[in-house]
Amino acid sequence: MLGENVQFVRGIGPKKAGVLHSEAGISIIEDLLYYAPRRYLDRSNLKQIKDCFVNEIVTVGGMITRVSIAGRSKRFLEVVIDDGTDSITGVYFRKIPYFQKTFVPGEFVLFSGKIDFFRKKQIVHPDYDFIDEDSSLKSIHTGRVVPLYRSSEKLKAAGFDSRGFRRILRHVIDTYLVNDLEDFLDPELRSRNGLVPLRDALFSLHFPETLEDAEKARKRLAFNELFFLFTYLGISRKSAREAVGDAVSVIDRAPIDLFIGTLPFKLTPGQKECIDEILFDMGKPFPMNRLLQGDVGSGKTIIAMAAALGCVAQKMQCSVMAPTEILAVQHYNNFTRHLPAHVRTGLLTGSTPAAAKKKLLRDISAGETDILIGTHALLNTDISFMNPGLVIIDEQHRFGVNQRSRLRAKGENAHLLVMTATPIPRSLALTLYGDLELSILRGKPADRPPITTFAFSESRLRGIYNSMEKYISEGRQIYYVLPLIEESEKLDIRSAVKEYEHLRDSVFRHRRVDLLHGRMKADEKELAMSRFHNHETDILVSTTVIEVGIDVPNATVMVVHHAERFGLSQLHQLRGRVGRGSHRSFCILIYPDNAGEESTRRIQTLVNMDDGFKIAEEDLRLRGSGEIIGLRQHGHDGGFEFADLATDIDIINSARNEAMKIVAATDASGIEDINGFFEKTDYRQLRGIRRKRVLSLLS
Ligand code: ADP
Ligand code: MG
Repeated sequence: MLGENVQFVRGIGPKKAGVLHSEAGISIIEDLLYYAPRRYLDRSNLKQIKDCFVNEIVTVGGMITRVSIAGRSKRFLEVVIDDGTDSITGVYFRKIPYFQKTFVPGEFVLFSGKIDFFRKKQIVHPDYDFIDEDSSLKSIHTGRVVPLYRSSEKLKAAGFDSRGFRRILRHVIDTYLVNDLEDFLDPELRSRNGLVPLRDALFSLHFPETLEDAEKARKRLAFNELFFLFTYLGISRKSAREAVGDAVSVIDRAPIDLFIGTLPFKLTPGQKECIDEILFDMGKPFPMNRLLQGDVGSGKTIIAMAAALGCVAQKMQCSVMAPTEILAVQHYNNFTRHLPAHVRTGLLTGSTPAAAKKKLLRDISAGETDILIGTHALLNTDISFMNPGLVIIDEQHRFGVNQRSRLRAKGENAHLLVMTATPIPRSLALTLYGDLELSILRGKPADRPPITTFAFSESRLRGIYNSMEKYISEGRQIYYVLPLIEESEKLDIRSAVKEYEHLRDSVFRHRRVDLLHGRMKADEKELAMSRFHNHETDILVSTTVIEVGIDVPNATVMVVHHAERFGLSQLHQLRGRVGRGSHRSFCILIYPDNAGEESTRRIQTLVNMDDGFKIAEEDLRLRGSGEIIGLRQHGHDGGFEFADLATDIDIINSARNEAMKIVAATDASGIEDINGFFEKTDYRQLRGIRRKRVLSLLS
């Protein structure tokens, strides 16, 4: 029944069903049941405007009666709403044109925030939410907890505003949601983890008695998503182990210790530990699956080299994928410089000439290249390794999860080492990687002086230029990073090109200023980088192409202009480009004079915080999970509808535990069964996890 097309629901029909499908991905009745409200209105915290007092945090609702600009020296927007008991004004100082368009007199809106009094009752920059008339004041005041649903112009036109969804869901629940709906989690498991039965969850998702009920429903559905994900991860891992090919013998440490002995420095204890962990794993008869997390500048490259050497010593081939051409070239140079001469290393990027590429591919398939370093080109090229042993992916956060698995797929049973400097909070790492082992590289090379971070507004530019001049005269080099390549007319943001010209032609006329950005040709980029490496440049004006991996120890100053435009983790990455030698290093963050309080506070976080993990957590809190791991830019939001990776740590843990229990208790034939379940099961049972998306994360 639940699998029936929604067009057969009374009041829907083929036309509306088409809209539901194209606008909301709803095609069967069960899809409707899983259509999550975007928020709930609780009459208990909804106040009548006349009852609001100063400094109270409230939600009020009313009809917009006036939208107008006010203020003399400083303009602001006033949005007045009236709920029949009194009126209150929402005040907006920023994004005025946007809000002016957003709020239309006659519409119903909710404002939440703290009540201020400035000649009249007001809320500054209230959170807002539009409601339709039905949930308008009378029914809210007399109603219960009311769900509000995502809608769109087309959905609304087809009658699916929040009210329409509620009406149809009432009918669907009454007609189709049977009391004995099958639950795939048994009662013991549910009670162990405090989960409500599936049927109750689906009911309370839409018609909760209280907000607590709604949260219980969400938790149960979030558990479903995570539980399936972990079971799937666990089972695929287990079957990979069971299908082990040739056993690898114990890794011979001698060549690795020899290599370590030739380095110009001693390894940090953290580096030693990580190398041990990795080599130990690589000696096991099933593929390693390891994530190496280490803050910027902690020295991950050496670890990659040791692992690669361990692989080569086994007479196997290793591939190393870096997110940018610059970084691939840098790795190539490092590997060839430090590894013993007999190791044959190749480089493959988008700009490798066709003939060289052809030869390289031949060498690889003939086993005459030991280590292949490259960019995405590794994915897009048809490469056949004679004997793939290890795949290393550097700065993994820059790659989509799909790309990671595609590279993995190139070396079936090869070991996998993923390295990242964007410290993914543990909850997130668990979710994204399931049972990926985690190596955490702590500490930095001892001779590193700390990086001093400053935040200044643009009015201090003169002084900043003066200190830049001072460091250059002491023989140091400077990165100068901007958010954009070319000037944009709309935004008053300094672009890299314009600033480059400005610094080169006026302020630093007497210095060597160079430019680097992502739209330059590969060889131009490489040239700019090598000039900077060779100290033929004093100031490198750049976009974030230098964000990852670049290592020039003599560069000791990182200036970031328009720091307010960057994420915290990104700024921390940028800062990590300096402080790599023994000289004192500085990071100078510049923000516009009129930057909002929120931006300056955010930037200030960086001045006070130096621990990449803490910064990442803060970032996660401020921006949500998608951004951090770069999922959003690849069109994923983590793939979850109900689980919130930033806050559901308890659910993540319990779902993982339960899934692992099941995986552990499963023998080979059981694996077949569960795999079969995932293969064949009606995808509706995996609802919310969006099986296809999960598979694309994994396969
Ligand atoms: P990241 O972890 O950010 O990738 P890198 O591997 O690029 O860091 O290392 C940063 C710099 O530190 C490099 O110049 C590298 O040669 C140097 N380095 C690595 N390990 C040590 C060490 N144990 N002692 C001193 N310098 C080191
Ligand atoms: Mg690196």
